[in-house]
Amino acid sequence: MNDLTRQDFEVTRLGKATLTSPLYKEYKKEDAPHKEFIEDSRRIIYDASLSAFEEARNSDADPISFLKAGPRKKIYFDPSKTKAAIVTCGGLCPGINNVIRGLVNGLYYRYNVKNIWGVQYGYQGFISDYGHEMVKLTPNVVKDIHLFGGTILGSSRGRQDISAMVDTLERENINILFTIGGDGTLSGNHVIHEEIERRGLKIVTAGIPKTIDNDVNFMTKTFGFDTAFSTAAAVVRDAHNEATGAYNGVAIVKLMGRDSGFIAANAALAMPDVNFVLIPESKFDLYGDKGFLNTLKKRVEERHHALVVVAEGAGQHLFEDNENEVVKDKSGNIKHKDIGVFLKDEITNYLKEQDMEATVKYIDPSYIIRSEVAIPADSVFCNDLALNAVHGAMAGITDFVVGRWHNQFTYLPIPVATASRKKIDIDGALWWSVLETTGQPVDMTND
Ligand code: ATP
Ligand code: MG
Repeated sequence: MNDLTRQDFEVTRLGKATLTSPLYKEYKKEDAPHKEFIEDSRRIIYDASLSAFEEARNSDADPISFLKAGPRKKIYFDPSKTKAAIVTCGGLCPGINNVIRGLVNGLYYRYNVKNIWGVQYGYQGFISDYGHEMVKLTPNVVKDIHLFGGTILGSSRGRQDISAMVDTLERENINILFTIGGDGTLSGNHVIHEEIERRGLKIVTAGIPKTIDNDVNFMTKTFGFDTAFSTAAAVVRDAHNEATGAYNGVAIVKLMGRDSGFIAANAALAMPDVNFVLIPESKFDLYGDKGFLNTLKKRVEERHHALVVVAEGAGQHLFEDNENEVVKDKSGNIKHKDIGVFLKDEITNYLKEQDMEATVKYIDPSYIIRSEVAIPADSVFCNDLALNAVHGAMAGITDFVVGRWHNQFTYLPIPVATASRKKIDIDGALWWSVLETTGQPVDMTND
């Protein structure tokens, strides 16, 4: 963050936007949906504290700020000649279909772009060898898709040849490509953009960040996150019933969170019966006086039940001595060792060694959560993200993602959004709330 400057937050544009937006042509009408048009000078400040403001005023450096999203009076693309494509990649996350629906309806009804195509099975859909035909998308095709989880376009992992992908964009005369995906997809989007630039093509690539872990920098929240932790909270509630239903009952729920424990932390705050939250950001020891197992044992002795929530990326250091080889998936993401199963075995064995009769239950709801239907708050958010992506793309902004900061929608260059991951600050308010709510020790390490 500290080495980023105001310049890094400037988005790229295909060229000057010279055409009057159909939204602006409509806006004087009584029932026009848009009354506010955004000038490109409107920016959202990163640090809204008074001290940061004063510091910025007294220095030459511009404070970090983000371009405000929203409809522009002038657009770059002529809607009648514009062809748009949508692709979804990586793992599932609630709300993908809502985003697809929002993109299609925004293009079709707001901008009169009627030529919209869905690319099937992620970036594979650009490679003809796979034989995945593009599908035509209309409001009629997408009208009910928000009622289902998953993605109607299908998804995939695994790297594809960038040059071949841009060949397809060129051959199909696509002007705007919307990518819905995580860090891998967005990195892919950026490389596609670089190849487009190298060839001097006038194609926009716009990203809607999809990460259930809520780990994108410079965004308060990513879509699907609210649904994910709300669904997780219901599972945590059930797990609590399992724990209290047996004498010395211990229930463990494993939740998503490869590098960031936001889902685990928020699910525990929503369901404050949780006694221990284990996240990647906070290391803990298994053994020893202050270690997790002994702390858990004391809790069970006192209250005769315990509820543990563990993020999938937590405690990975515990595997370091066991096995050294790193396993990766098709996209090159490091596959984490299963901390949930590991903890279940460790807890069972430890309590047995301590002569404690206990019942240990383990629940892993990950795939159920990933394919959930978006809750209403997420549906609203998905639709807003999609509409703002359409506004930015039609204005000729490229290589960007849509985000939200201080309750305002923003456009960020992809490289700054993917430069590093957002993590829980273990000295910050969120983690302290978790510690206060669960009553777990601040530190479960022995030194
Ligand atoms: P998730 O959050 O589920 O991991 P993701 O978008 O990160 O979502 P990945 O499978 O990592 O999912 O990546 C999606 C697609 O992007 C894959 O097809 C992957 O090969 C491709 N990709 C990732 N990085 C690059 C890159 N640098 N250049 C080209 N393609 C890439
Ligand atoms: Mg990824």
